[in-house]
Amino acid sequence: MDYDIIIVGGGIVGLATALQIQKKRPGLRLLLLEKENALARHQTGNNSGVIHSGLYYKPGSLKATNCIRGYHLLVEFCKEHNVPFELCGKIVVASSPAELPLLENLYIRGQQNGLQNLKKLSAEHLKDYEPHVTGLGGIFVPQTGIVDYKIVAAKYGELIQQSGAAIHLGEQVIDIQSNRDKTVVITQKASYTTGLVINCAGLYSDKVAGMTVQNLNIKIIPFRGEYFKLKKEKEYLVKNLIYPVPDPNFPFLGVHFTRMAKGGVEAGPNAVLAFQREGYKKTDIRLSELAETLLWPGFQKVARKYWRTGWEEMYRSFSKAAFTKALQILVPEIHENDLETGGAGVRAQACDRQGGLVDDFLILEERNAINVCNAPSPAATSSLSIGETVAALALKRLEG
Ligand SMILES: Cc1cc2nc3c(=O)[nH]c(=O)nc-3n(C[C@H](O)[C@H](O)[C@H](O)COP(=O)(O)OP(=O)(O)OC[C@H]3O[C@@H](n4cnc5c(N)ncnc54)[C@H](O)[C@@H]3O)c2cc1C
Repeated sequence: MDYDIIIVGGGIVGLATALQIQKKRPGLRLLLLEKENALARHQTGNNSGVIHSGLYYKPGSLKATNCIRGYHLLVEFCKEHNVPFELCGKIVVASSPAELPLLENLYIRGQQNGLQNLKKLSAEHLKDYEPHVTGLGGIFVPQTGIVDYKIVAAKYGELIQQSGAAIHLGEQVIDIQSNRDKTVVITQKASYTTGLVINCAGLYSDKVAGMTVQNLNIKIIPFRGEYFKLKKEKEYLVKNLIYPVPDPNFPFLGVHFTRMAKGGVEAGPNAVLAFQREGYKKTDIRLSELAETLLWPGFQKVARKYWRTGWEEMYRSFSKAAFTKALQILVPEIHENDLETGGAGVRAQACDRQGGLVDDFLILEERNAINVCNAPSPAATSSLSIGETVAALALKRLEG
């Protein structure tokens, strides 16, 4: 019951962190606690399955550096462990004159982030890559790929256990108590002592951080992303991945088409406020969690500023016709009855008290804890690099 390090959360970030710690210090006593009865039940198991290239992110940001390093580590990992993946490339399409300068900025940003062989595409050349797409121009990004992150996470889990770490499923961390000499992690089943806690609890990372940090300045706001699937007979409309130019204010908005590694083509996701942190259905609601979101001063500021965008997303969530209209901007041949309901995922987006949606990955260090407090997309792509970063912070403490 005594461990050198305890990791909270069996999503891809917690698992990758365990893997990287073991790689550097194989003998450490390591325990990973996951509240569900299986790994990767939340963000990791309900995402778009894209291996992001690092095109979008501000040069020098944690997202940019970890995505680019994580991309290479992930691709190597998949090759080494026979995890199926494909580097199929994607196109980003400008659909209005106003998007053309943004597309140009994206091209420059991609180059700043070190991406090679990006190709500018004219309206005509878009069709060489995606015959059913319409747009004013685009970029082809050859590096982008697809993978099933559930399989990646399961492989991380298998390797961690083979190397001697313990994974306890079905154990929710309900409290963490620290004194000068030791930290005790309490679950509903047992208590464990440790030198260091690493919090990778995703949608509950603020709650777990709150167990060791007073007056935490951030709250996780859950945004559900809903998908449709193309009917089998219409999958020919999409060869690989088709993305719109992102709105610089909301880079995670904008429905896109993704061919999935497990088969099929998904369209989405949108982004609507979830009334429950793990609320995958429109009807899922937990009043205590909703009240916490609505009362958070940062969220109130975001809602006041961006209410129109929020309503548009909400409208699209209830109106299949409106969702289809957004997709038709990219592929005009798509009709409402070509789409069937797909799954949903919930994004954990940190929002600070002042009203900023935290854009970059955020890692907060405490005396006995390291808290990964904001790990939205592309954190699945970046997982091995985030894991490396957190492992380095953790091992520095054990040595010091
Ligand atoms: C709709 C959607 C699409 C996305 N698309 C992509 C994509 O294409 N490419 C990409 O790179 N990224 C994508 N992402 C982002 C990516 O999925 C996440 O950034 C990544 O999975 C985060 O991993 P995580 O381990 O931090 O969180 P999670 O996978 O959510 O794991 C956290 C774990 O902590 C556990 N936990 C929480 N509280 C406790 C507690 N108290 N005790 C014990 N366990 C606890 C949870 O049960 C959960 O299993 C997408 C995300 C979403 C939602």
